[in-house]
Amino acid sequence: MGACPELVARSNKVYQPRNPRATKLYQLVNNNCDTFLRVYPEQFENKYGYLRPEIGHALENYLTCGILSHGFARVKCQNCNHEFLLAFSCKGRYFCPSCHQRRVQEFGLFLTEQILEKVPHRQIVFSLPKITRKAFLYNRELLPKLAHCGWETILEVFQAALDSEDLTPGMVVDIQTYGGLLNWHPHLHCLCTDGCFDAAGQFHALPAISAETMNKIFAAKVLKMLIQEDALSEEMAKKILSWKHSGFNTHANRRIEADDTDAIKALAEYIVRSPFNQSKITISDDGSKTIYHGKINPSLGKNFQVFDSLEFLAALTSHIPLRNKKMVVYYGWYSQAARGKRRRDGKLTSPFPLCHQGENDNRTIHYRWSQLIKNVYADPLICPACGGKMKIIAFIKDHGIINKILDHLGIQDKLPQHAHAPPTKIHIKDISYEPFFDDLPITEQIELFKSMNQ
Ligand SMILES: [Zn+2]
Ligand SMILES: [Zn+2]
Repeated sequence: MGACPELVARSNKVYQPRNPRATKLYQLVNNNCDTFLRVYPEQFENKYGYLRPEIGHALENYLTCGILSHGFARVKCQNCNHEFLLAFSCKGRYFCPSCHQRRVQEFGLFLTEQILEKVPHRQIVFSLPKITRKAFLYNRELLPKLAHCGWETILEVFQAALDSEDLTPGMVVDIQTYGGLLNWHPHLHCLCTDGCFDAAGQFHALPAISAETMNKIFAAKVLKMLIQEDALSEEMAKKILSWKHSGFNTHANRRIEADDTDAIKALAEYIVRSPFNQSKITISDDGSKTIYHGKINPSLGKNFQVFDSLEFLAALTSHIPLRNKKMVVYYGWYSQAARGKRRRDGKLTSPFPLCHQGENDNRTIHYRWSQLIKNVYADPLICPACGGKMKIIAFIKDHGIINKILDHLGIQDKLPQHAHAPPTKIHIKDISYEPFFDDLPITEQIELFKSMNQ
């Protein structure tokens, strides 16, 4: 018997240093960020919502992501002293393609390994009439309320189908705000247990349910909520309900078997995917126009959208969530409260749930990082030179020291041309890091590093 092929493949993974500045998106943001933020209130507020602080932060942080001159971690082999630098990442969810993609993969693992039970699941998608969508753009606090309407609908329909109010389904919902051409299109992607649990943890499979009934219940709940929130008049709600096609849509025909982990993971990754894909962006030679390609949009009758480059940034950034607002919500059997109770009762199989947000100590971060990268990424804690164990030995955040080190190593990665000052205060808990250079000839420079960090 030879070595396990999967293990060999994994251990052969070597970091691919990326060059963030080479992407079209980076150039677009770098060239237009200042103008964009300046003209936004006048030019884009009406169509894309207010200029929220999240937008400026995301753009400015994105311009520092993966770039050594903004700070890095030093990683050193415990065996052969090989050493390299890992640039910090910006963690820009729903904006930075690299950081969001990492979240997507984390989420797929988190759901399949920590949250979902081994029972059949169903994907349910709820969408809204066009006339109601803009309310969510101007008042994003309505988005979690929309998710709640989805949950209440599912709870009621599932309990009715099984004829018991003592049963609970589990649901994970991602609140999406984007259509395929970056258009504002708030809707819900729900991943539900295809049945309910009783108090003893016994699973009761669901009989056939009617998506049409579910759609009617969902529509009534959403309209009621919008009226209560002063986001829709009662007259308009009545009008919508009187239309032959109300514009509400519910799709519930995708079911996944309990043992189909790959399909579940793919679906989990799909529901939190990035609002855009960099490979679908084309920029005109003079930089003034951006074309985004997607799937055919029935109401627009085309599969691409041409933007003025500043407006393209407005469209992209409209999908950045409010700071500290979760776009993924767990309900019922999968809610934090229910999982906490099962853990206390010793009925939860996962011994150490990963912290998904709000980590506040280095141990957790380190643990989470090393667990995840072993599964998904090339492991920067395995030495590319000798296969030995590598260790993070320092975080370098002081700009004087950063420049000294980069100078010494001959790395041309000084602060970029754009006018933004680097973030002045970096908290360890806001930092993640990623492989960047794995071939730096710095083993012999260790003494220098040491003296700089004393
Ligand atoms: Zn990033
Ligand atoms: Zn080594």
